[in-house]
Amino acid sequence: MKRYIVLTGMFLFYCAGGPLLAQRRPNIIFILSDDHAYQAISAYGSRLAVTPNIDRIAKEGVLFTRAMVTNSICGPSRASLLTGKYSHKNGYTLNEKRFNTDQPVFPALMAEHGYQTAWIGKWHLGNLPKGFDYFRILNGQGEYYNPDIIGPKDTTRVNGYVTDIITQMTEDWLNARDTSRPFMLIMGEKATHREWLPDLQDLGAFDKTDLPLPSTFDDRYQGRRAAADQDMTIARTMRLKEDLKVHADYEHGGIYNRFTPSQKKAFYDYYENRISREFDDRKDTGEALVRWKYQRYMKDYLSVARSLDRNIGKVLDFLDEKGLTRNTVVVYASDQGFYLGEHGWFDKRWIYEESLRTPFAVRYPGVAAAGSRVSAITLNVDWAPTLLDMAGIKAPADMQGVSFLPLLKGDGAAASRWRKAMYYHYYEYPQPHHVYPHFGIRTERWVLARFYGPADFWELYDLDSDPNELKNLYGSKGYESVIAGLKRQLRDLIVQYDDREALGMMDMK
Ligand code: CA
Repeated sequence: MKRYIVLTGMFLFYCAGGPLLAQRRPNIIFILSDDHAYQAISAYGSRLAVTPNIDRIAKEGVLFTRAMVTNSICGPSRASLLTGKYSHKNGYTLNEKRFNTDQPVFPALMAEHGYQTAWIGKWHLGNLPKGFDYFRILNGQGEYYNPDIIGPKDTTRVNGYVTDIITQMTEDWLNARDTSRPFMLIMGEKATHREWLPDLQDLGAFDKTDLPLPSTFDDRYQGRRAAADQDMTIARTMRLKEDLKVHADYEHGGIYNRFTPSQKKAFYDYYENRISREFDDRKDTGEALVRWKYQRYMKDYLSVARSLDRNIGKVLDFLDEKGLTRNTVVVYASDQGFYLGEHGWFDKRWIYEESLRTPFAVRYPGVAAAGSRVSAITLNVDWAPTLLDMAGIKAPADMQGVSFLPLLKGDGAAASRWRKAMYYHYYEYPQPHHVYPHFGIRTERWVLARFYGPADFWELYDLDSDPNELKNLYGSKGYESVIAGLKRQLRDLIVQYDDREALGMMDMK
């Protein structure tokens, strides 16, 4: 009997200890949008839009002003999030590959350590998630309206707007979870990916606003062959019908097939009866047409982002209502940056600023000081080790990123030791946007990149004197020692990350 009492006592002790332990290990919600540019977020000083809910994460947490990605496209960025590794190490160098799910991913490690793990929303890695207790994912790129949702056993069409559906599935999963254990949830948003179909309630939300043109909108790419040879301009590449819905085909297949009659009617009323009519009446050509396309692009893009921000607000409110805010880390990130007309472009891919830098904000109550900023160069390969660190789990030795939890804590000594340069490598060519493969180094001041494949040249930019990266200084007199120093640093990074393909190209020219 005595033994029984002791055992019962121990049992009660551990039960009481369970929630305490869970409290020390935070819950984590990682909201990963797609192609959402920092230029469209008011916390970053956007001139285009107000994003009160992303701003709230930044205001109550930390805003990162030099968060960067290591290969600026969708799938590779997700693969780097999962593995903490560069593309050449996790094998997912370009979109439309299949991610090898047999390799270690950080959520599986968290699950081993008692976390409940889930991925809800856009996945798009060519297979089903592994290492998660739960998943509900979009089919490939996914659909904005009435999307197919793939679970472990079946696929079902869910009626509604994709961003709302992802939020609802998130709330459902959180309501049903085991509350005795912490959770780590990734919300994979479809917004704000092409072709930018807004929620019905956001149609026309920016129609009264004349959106300002970026100063580099009319860039003619002098002295920059890679920039001149791309295929991602609003002028030439952006399609009136498919991207901007001018005289869209509502009857013969395609994205509108999935619409309900009332959704289709709302789109028809807006895009056909108003926007297409305006297009016909104006009869714009040349520069006037390019500027009109820019306005339409931005109005659609920002309308899609409006729903994204509203849904982030719903998640934050849900955490408040459930009493979860204090013990839940909320991260907001995009999978890379995006062009909103800078250099005349949309899309991403480049080592250049708008593409390389991604929005990143973290709210970590009690740990990260509210309203602070981190200007250190952080990378998407750092995300996995950082999340593991928050959970008190040691990152595997072959993860290439570094935990920036000390930066979140405001550790000045850690900040002064932090990396001063980052390594970048992009592969996908020629489709879909004809950007030459390139690798390079980015420091706080300089960008040095080597373009290869069908191209064979270097570029150098001085961000202090040329923040818009308009003047390629490579080969100009007076930069020989800067280039030699940057090449030494670049070689060191290539060796550190073991990118043999790039190393082989360092000695050419
Ligand atoms: Ca993306």
